[in-house]
Amino acid sequence: MSSTLRDSAPRGPAAARPGLGLDDYQTVELLAAGLVRMHLNRQHARQRLGPEDRIGSSGALPRAWRTGVTRLWWTALAQQVNWPGDDLDVISACRHPLGSWPIRLGLAEGDREQVLLEGDDLSEFAEQSVALAGRQDVEAELVENRVFALLMATSQANGRTLQEIQAAYVTLRLLLVHHPVLSDLDVIKQVQAMPAAAEGEPYVKDLVRAAYRLQPAPGTVALRLCDHCGNPMATPLVRCQVAGCPGRAAPRTVRTLEGYWVQNRATRRFHHDAGLVEERLFRGAEALAAQLAEDGCPVQVTLERYPLMDTWDGSLHFTRGDGTSQCWLFDAKDTVSATLLGRCFSPPPEPEATRRFLVLAQHRATPAYRADLERELHGRVRGITVTDETAFLRQAGQHARRLGGRA
Ligand SMILES: [Zn+2]
Repeated sequence: MSSTLRDSAPRGPAAARPGLGLDDYQTVELLAAGLVRMHLNRQHARQRLGPEDRIGSSGALPRAWRTGVTRLWWTALAQQVNWPGDDLDVISACRHPLGSWPIRLGLAEGDREQVLLEGDDLSEFAEQSVALAGRQDVEAELVENRVFALLMATSQANGRTLQEIQAAYVTLRLLLVHHPVLSDLDVIKQVQAMPAAAEGEPYVKDLVRAAYRLQPAPGTVALRLCDHCGNPMATPLVRCQVAGCPGRAAPRTVRTLEGYWVQNRATRRFHHDAGLVEERLFRGAEALAAQLAEDGCPVQVTLERYPLMDTWDGSLHFTRGDGTSQCWLFDAKDTVSATLLGRCFSPPPEPEATRRFLVLAQHRATPAYRADLERELHGRVRGITVTDETAFLRQAGQHARRLGGRA
């Protein structure tokens, strides 16, 4: 970690904090958790009652929200601002950048541009803050966590040994990264490959049902998908909206039996979009290994995806001719807020490794982002190198050549 980055600027949370002692990131996390809770309540109500109501318009408000609003009220009092009036005031503010609120929140510059709500939908920033904070009051009900639990269960049911379970996990995890849209014919193939079932229902089917929605379309269907990441794209969008994806809308015809499956929003955001940076690193690492082999480098580089059932996103093994080997572990992150990532990143101690890396998606890794992140990690997380996609792969190549005596 570079000390020049860490010391660079008198900006960010510590500098902006208005001196009340309240941690404004916690306030924002509470409001976001409250909004998620309201969203879940609304879904439950819709299932029970039918017609949809607007966010915050009915029922008792969640405790996280109440606490968040109370904290806003205290902050406003300390800043001698007469705000907020009522909950609708705050909900309306959630649709505007946090930096434009009537009170000053001690947030990093990049986070001050973020909103919590886009219309009635949670923003990426809000959803990530809830996920990163591990809010127990909503966690079990979040679709992304249910999908993760089903990934584990499906893998375990379809393997007899640890290796088989791990292999099944990697296949299913990559299915979510590679296929935001699946034909029902693909699902049938996947069930044939992984037939384990509980009470006659294949686990794979359960997983697909939790992560995707079925769109009836027997025969063939013409879709408009990103030509790079595969996400569905509405007209008139031409460029893919996923951060860091260079793709454009392209027509694709999909053959079906009865219909096709489309990932729900949470799966798309937390499993597909978040997995794209992992997938880029996997491809880069494999290309590097092939290049080194072609150059006759005596050190063999091998990639392991999602080792120990996703304890880390990946590991690189550098094996010398005498069979001795070194291991680098990496986690790849594409998180909107550097501060929230830094506050919540806690690298697992296992497995044994020579080095551990937090690899930032290239499109996030600006000097300001790294400064915010390293400020939060400083003193709390040790033994982690923060880097970006390009630098990580370059370092891996240099390391292999050095080990092989070809630096
Ligand atoms: Zn895309």
